[in-house]
Amino acid sequence: MSCRSRLTKMALLLSLAAASAGATSFVTVPDEALVDGAAVIAQVTVESVEPAPIAAPPATDYFVQIERLLKGYVTGSTVVVRVPGGIGPDGIGLRIWGVPQFRTGERTLLFLAPRVDGTYGILHLMLGAFSEVEAGGYRIAVRALSEALSLPLSSAGETPMATEPQRDFAGFVNWITDRANGLRRPIDYYLDPALADLGRPRASGPLLEDRCTQLNYRWSGFDQDEAFKWSFDAAGYDGRGGGRGAFLRARRLWKRASNGAVRFQNGGALRNRAALGGLDGVNLLAFDDPRDDVAGSFSCSSGGVLSLTGVWFDNGRGQSCERIGTGRKGFRDGRQYLEILAADILVNDGASCLLSKDVLLTARIFAHELGHSLGLAHVADSAAVMSGEVSRSSSLEHLEASDVEAVSELYDTPPSR
Ligand SMILES: [Zn+2]
Repeated sequence: MSCRSRLTKMALLLSLAAASAGATSFVTVPDEALVDGAAVIAQVTVESVEPAPIAAPPATDYFVQIERLLKGYVTGSTVVVRVPGGIGPDGIGLRIWGVPQFRTGERTLLFLAPRVDGTYGILHLMLGAFSEVEAGGYRIAVRALSEALSLPLSSAGETPMATEPQRDFAGFVNWITDRANGLRRPIDYYLDPALADLGRPRASGPLLEDRCTQLNYRWSGFDQDEAFKWSFDAAGYDGRGGGRGAFLRARRLWKRASNGAVRFQNGGALRNRAALGGLDGVNLLAFDDPRDDVAGSFSCSSGGVLSLTGVWFDNGRGQSCERIGTGRKGFRDGRQYLEILAADILVNDGASCLLSKDVLLTARIFAHELGHSLGLAHVADSAAVMSGEVSRSSSLEHLEASDVEAVSELYDTPPSR
């Protein structure tokens, strides 16, 4: 889908948000299911962006002005939309790629889920946010999917999914309004497939990039042969399916591909730890989204977000981009990097219907997420594990040359013998 580097001239001319590539995997949700599943749908403009005033975990608050309410009720004309990831009051940052980002002044269509604290989550994260982009004389509703890993599966998990269509913004709004009012009519707002690349955010690669500083991330400890342990949440899908074995397999792939430079070890099972919940010295693979970081569940019939990867870093006792100068950084070959202090992978609730049935697919997804946890973004090679799309044909006996090349950009991988 949009992860591929099919750039039109128009796409190059547009200055769109966040070119960093991502760490969220998903199966697309049909528009009908999005409308039916959202408590609130609104056309909004983003008024301001602020770090969430909570101790942990870091989150970002978007204050949005409601221009048009398409479904549901809200109190007041401005609501706070809180998305996971950001920089906390203690300066500790959590970067989760694939999570939608908005700019002040931007007009967006949001599918929202109310939270108990009065803020709103975005239903299915990047699948429930459509930015208005003007391109080629059209007003298009564009989802920022270049940051995420798409699984080209139908809801049944077998046949290929069609490429993400382009939606006419006004037509989409009208269709949503009708459906929310009980008038179900066929989709009439898809634009000509020939316009597929118009206005899409471009993917970048192969390294993850910090939004403030444009620095890349890496584990500096590997330089001193330090090893880092990955633990499993003892609860959840892993206890019932093949998640643990798939993760071990994924970890071995990176070890082999880097000729031992990537030193991730097995930290065993833990209880009562939250992935993406705080910088707690544990790299955790956890299941079932216990804190509801992802509003909405994955479903094998209607899709959704499967998993998220986040990396933790030190922003230097401040929440603004400017303060990052004092954070934990390292150098390699004369380049400055942000040091990854820990990483977490969160598997969404409901994902077991897909993952427990297919250990190879699970291993492929975990290998991809582990690649992000190493500081990698996406590579253009569609056979690679770090491609933006899961390829059923890619081998899991070894990583592709493009994956190996990407990891060698960050770490001193010894030549193979
Ligand atoms: Zn990805």
